[in-house]
This record gives sequence, structure tokens and C-alpha cells, in this order.
Amino acid sequence: MRVISPGFEVLDDYFQKGKVLEQIERCGRVCYKSEDKISTESAVPFIRGIIRRGHESVIEMANLVLEVSAPEERFYQDFFIHIPRFCQASRISDGKFIVSGNPRSFRDLARRLPTASLICAIKAKLKGAYPVLFEDIETKGEAGQDIEVRLLSPQEVDSLELPLLVKHRCLLAHIIVNRAVTHELVRHRVASYLQESQRYCRYGEEKFGGAVTFIKPCFFDEGSREYEMWERAMEETEAIYLELLKTSSPQAARTVLPNSCKTEIMVHATLEEWKHIFRLRASKAADPSMREIMLMMLPEFARRFPPVFKEIIDSVEQ
Ligand SMILES: Cc1cc2nc3c(=O)[nH]c(=O)nc-3n(C[C@H](O)[C@H](O)[C@H](O)COP(=O)(O)OP(=O)(O)OC[C@H]3O[C@@H](n4cnc5c(N)ncnc54)[C@H](O)[C@@H]3O)c2cc1C
Repeated sequence: MRVISPGFEVLDDYFQKGKVLEQIERCGRVCYKSEDKISTESAVPFIRGIIRRGHESVIEMANLVLEVSAPEERFYQDFFIHIPRFCQASRISDGKFIVSGNPRSFRDLARRLPTASLICAIKAKLKGAYPVLFEDIETKGEAGQDIEVRLLSPQEVDSLELPLLVKHRCLLAHIIVNRAVTHELVRHRVASYLQESQRYCRYGEEKFGGAVTFIKPCFFDEGSREYEMWERAMEETEAIYLELLKTSSPQAARTVLPNSCKTEIMVHATLEEWKHIFRLRASKAADPSMREIMLMMLPEFARRFPPVFKEIIDSVEQ
């Protein structure tokens, strides 16, 4: 067996370089641990296959920010009145709005309101920029001459004033923790997740080193009696898991895997939701394993967006 410490990486280069499709592919491949299949040509067929199979949560893993100019009445009629659940919108001046969401949220909007001219205009713009994400969605209306839609560049998004930035800017983190922590993380509903699937990953295979990987528990000192008991339990569990794999599928064998199992999870959320997550999960009331990773991540988030996360750093008791 392997024992490792928790860790994380902020994956923001994709956003900053406008690599929307590559970001989605990278996140999707964490489920199957097939990152080795990524090439310069692989994103489009990967995403097409994902959409065909209906695994649309994968295409939540990127954020598109638009500036929409339209008569206010049209905006209310075609957009606000339908209360889109997973899009963010801000009115910035008379007839001008910032609208953001992930590709899935815009696909759902286009499916739900196929004749609304504002939605048709948004879909046409997004389909022009990212055909594979919208090619299978049919809209039946006209885009409307009085509507203008512009995709903001990453630099424009980062220049938004603070309240808009917090609401419309997303950050993607690749986090390596135990299964109990991922279970707690996914309770935060205003975010998107993809995690390593124990149904598909066969940890007996060579690419996993033929072993199960566990996260070192923060509760027990190495060498202590408690740590030795934990270690023994993991060794025995691993042996049973590998034995089960000889006759059973990974999804059957995984039923014996414990909370300490290493799990990779991609978390994609707005800065607003990240603030909420840190507020709850870096606090002393949080599960110590969760707090451990949150306290590792918080300084990195604060380094990237000081005005957003400084108040959280100040409020977290060390
Ligand atoms: C110290 C601690 C102990 C916990 N113990 C338990 C426990 O014993 N058992 C347990 O089941 N969970 C427990 N949890 C998890 C907790 O109940 C929440 O599920 C988790 O923290 C997600 O946070 P959230 O609900 O505030 O908001 P998120 O899901 O992160 O959503 C962000 C915000 O969006 C809004 N929102 C999202 N969804 C809805 C909705 N459906 N309706 C209305 N508003 C919504 C709310 O304003 C919310 O604050 C614990 C969490 C902590 C921090």
C-alpha cells in the first residue's frame, strides 16, 4: 500500500489561456484516471463522447462570461423571468448585463427556452466559439437585431470590479484528500465536481502501482499505537480488496474500501462559493481532515485574489 499526504493544485492556466475545452477534458479524465490519453487533438472527441453518453456534469467544469446588451424588457422576458438556476447575471448599466455560467447551464437554458431571442443570441455566440459544446442543441428562434452578445476575455473577467469578480470568476482546484473529505466537499451545492471513480479504477493495475493509496490521517502521530492500528487496518483492507479483484469488478471490490482511501477531486466554483467553503471548512468547528487541506489552500487563493480572500484569512483562527 501507499500512504501519502493530502495536497492540491490550483489549475488556473487553462482559464487564463482561454483553453475551455482542454480544461473540461482534463477534469473529465480524473474520473477514469486516463490523463495519459490527453493529446493536442483529444479534447473535441472526448467531449463529444461525454455528451453522447449524457455525462453532462463534465461540461460544468469551465466558466463562460458574457456581456449582453439588449433592451431591458427583452432581458427580463427571455431571462430573468425564467430564473435560470445555474447562471449568474448582473445589470451593469441601462441595457447592459454580465451573464456567466458553465457550458451545461447555457445548454440547459437553450433547451428550455428554444424560441427566446436572447437565449438564441447567446447560444449562437457560444456555438461559434465552441462548436462541440453546442452543436447538438437546436434552437428555433431568431437572435434579434437589438441584441448583442460578447464573450469576455480572461483578462476582461479579471479586470471586473470586485463584486462582479467574486460573482462571475470561477477557480478550479485539483484536490487530493481522503474519501471522507470529498464526501463533505460535495455537500457544497453551488459548485461543480468530478472525482476519481472507484467504480472504474482498478487499483490492482500497474498504472496504480498495483496498490491502494491511502491518505495519512492527521489524527495519529506516526509511530504511535493508534497509527500502527490504522496502518494494520489499511494493510488488511488492501489485501482483501486485491483478492476480491481477482474474481470481481472494481465496483464490487470497492465495497470494502475505507474512508482513508486517496481520492482526487476537481472542484470548480465561483470565488463567492469558495469564500463560503473556506468560511465553513477552515474554521475550528470543521472536521480536522477537511480543515487541514483548507488551511493549505487558503494562502494560495489569497495570493491569487488578495482582496477576495483576505477577510477569510483574517477571520480564521489558527
Ligand atoms: C461544522 C460542520 C458540521 C456539519 N455537520 C453535518 C452533519 O452532521 N450532517 C450533515 O448532513 N451535514 C453536516 N454538515 C454539512 C452542512 O450541513 C452543509 O451541507 C455543508 O456545509 C454545505 O454548506 P451550505 O449548506 O451552507 O451551503 P452550499 O451548499 O455551499 O451553498 C451555498 C449557499 O447557497 C444557498 N443554497 C444552496 N442550496 C440551497 C437550497 N437548496 N436552498 C436554499 N439555499 C441554498 C445557501 O445560502 C448556502 O449558504 C456540516 C458542516 C459543517 C461546516
